Amino acid sequence: MKKIASVCPYCGAGCKLNLVVENNRIIRAEAAEGVTNQGTLCLKGFYGWDFLNDTRLLTPRLTQPMIRYHKGEAFTPVTWEEAIRYTAHRLSSIKAQHGPRSIMTTGSSRGTGNETNYVMQKFARAVLNTNNVDCCARVCHGPSVAGLQETLGNGAMSNSINDIENSKCLLVFGYNCADSHPIVARRVLKARENGAKIIVCDPRRIETARIADQHLQLKNGSNMALVNAFGYVLLEEELYDKSYVARFTEGLEAYRQTVKDYAPEKVEHLTGIPARDVRQAMRTFAAAPSATVMWGMGVTQFGQAVDVVRGLSSLALLTGNLGRPAVGVGPVRGQNNVQGACDMGVLPNMFPGYQDVTDPAVRQKFADAWGIDVNKMDDRVGTRITEVPHLALEGKVKAYYIMGEDPLQTEADLGLVRSGFEALDFVVVQDIFMTKTAEVADVLLPATSWGEHGGVFTCADRGFQRFGKAIEASGNVKRDWEIISLLATEMGYPMHYDSNQQIWDEMRELCPLFFGVTYEKMGEMGHVQWPCPTLDHPGTPYLYKDNQFDTPTGKGQLFAAPWRAPAETPDEDFPLVLCTVREVGHYSCRSMTGNCAALQSLADEPGRVQMHPADAEKLGIKEGQLVWVRSRRGKVITRASISERINKGAVYMTYQWWIGACNELTQDNLDPISKTPETKYCAVQLEAIEDQ
Ligand code: SF4
Repeated sequence: MKKIASVCPYCGAGCKLNLVVENNRIIRAEAAEGVTNQGTLCLKGFYGWDFLNDTRLLTPRLTQPMIRYHKGEAFTPVTWEEAIRYTAHRLSSIKAQHGPRSIMTTGSSRGTGNETNYVMQKFARAVLNTNNVDCCARVCHGPSVAGLQETLGNGAMSNSINDIENSKCLLVFGYNCADSHPIVARRVLKARENGAKIIVCDPRRIETARIADQHLQLKNGSNMALVNAFGYVLLEEELYDKSYVARFTEGLEAYRQTVKDYAPEKVEHLTGIPARDVRQAMRTFAAAPSATVMWGMGVTQFGQAVDVVRGLSSLALLTGNLGRPAVGVGPVRGQNNVQGACDMGVLPNMFPGYQDVTDPAVRQKFADAWGIDVNKMDDRVGTRITEVPHLALEGKVKAYYIMGEDPLQTEADLGLVRSGFEALDFVVVQDIFMTKTAEVADVLLPATSWGEHGGVFTCADRGFQRFGKAIEASGNVKRDWEIISLLATEMGYPMHYDSNQQIWDEMRELCPLFFGVTYEKMGEMGHVQWPCPTLDHPGTPYLYKDNQFDTPTGKGQLFAAPWRAPAETPDEDFPLVLCTVREVGHYSCRSMTGNCAALQSLADEPGRVQMHPADAEKLGIKEGQLVWVRSRRGKVITRASISERINKGAVYMTYQWWIGACNELTQDNLDPISKTPETKYCAVQLEAIEDQ
């Protein structure tokens, strides 16, 4: 029996665990003393590994390269040589015929690790010569990255997960940490025990609301109006830190002009919150000696998400809650390595280390390092994954190389996404399971899983952590970066790596932000937070020391925008709001957790529609009853889950249900800046299915 130090492959909390292995099988997971989890795990950490032992619960593991030579035919098992030759040939032909930007690629924010994401973006930029590389940050915290880069200069959490418990006030906005990051929720609980005031802004009575001093149960879709009302109160009641604002920020007068129309009394009809409660919340927030603003998908999955992120960070700026311990802004990243995928440049506008693709000097640096002609490099921002269906239907994207993502389960408006896939000439899926997207691929490239390889992840608070290889993979599978390297070589760009560390060191040399994060410094249990620019630098637990912001002027940028209504509001035909949410026992498209026996037995139908008793009674729907949920885009069948914790007029579903994902119903109204879809708001109707 041996124990391998690893990092949980699910959420961005970055919990360290030990995988206990006997005869090349995982026996159990034990909590380790990681910096963020300190000897504890949630149920996914404890029980989310048994898909590695091939439980074959729901979907088959991919164990053999396969090609579908002609549309409509079955897959043919092939050798790796044939899979690489065929894929390289098809990609090269499409590039030659339609140009580099006709090919789209993805990195993966899950178990594959930072090294593979670096290699994937290098493949896109150096071999395909396109910036068309993106990841699922686009559909989650893309707005946090875009918004915070503008107001503060870095699109990441300013402080540390383990510092949350020291804050004296937590403003938790659109963030259900008990379900999405249970170990972060534990820090929130500890903060409460330490005397912190908790203000929760959420339409549902989520778990955190139960321990909150105030629960502002805002109407779905009113985020910007509430954030502006917060700003209004801070200015009108002179609760803001005038000296801090004068010294360290810009834009106060423009900010004041926008929020002047958002007196809490004036916008009660939009927010649904009594004005006195809004005022009380800001009095508490401004009076606290330290305050942290935390948010999740309830902020970012709206058509006006970037504006709301900028508005939330402005609340921290107005009250001087940045640049020291126990304060700051906390967009808590969803998937275990979505921060890392962004760090590694799996973004259409950034090279690794957040270096701009439109900067000629940056392009020259990478071209020199990669040994390619700089004139071959794409000098424009590439395509985002949410734009692919539209561009495929317009004939502008012809091929899609997808690594470790399942857009046919996770993207908004699946009918549209399917049409886009049908219009593509060539789809390559590199994954560990036969996902919905894998089912429609032309080529399947089976990869090793988390547990079968090691590497580095970045957790939500910018902390780089190493994870180890626990078992040998079975089946004819290869490491992700090895597959990409074989393809690159076959396409005429020799790419050979011997180890993760070799890739990591190449990346470090090109990224000043990460240069000091060596394998040795991380060790087995270390957690090194960027920026870490030199070999003797210990890493950075909190950003903006001395209130020096990484904006062009060095000052924090105050920002407010007028509220915009969601794109599709309820009406007579579709009278309820549908909001997508998370479920504690499963993760993302459920390809991993759905194949874990313990997690599956806890929740085998994770897509139930949650609704308020009054709405259920009006529609004649009983607890557990089968119902149709319809929107203008599609319909799904599921069971009702009725609870007082749900607000009237809205229903909630996870997108994990395989028998009709709720993304059949959602719509792709994209935030104009981040191109993130409005999956938190669309109009639906429910119909009870009579018992037979
Ligand atoms: Fe920790 Fe998140 Fe894994 Fe749970 S799912 S053990 S909170 S990293």
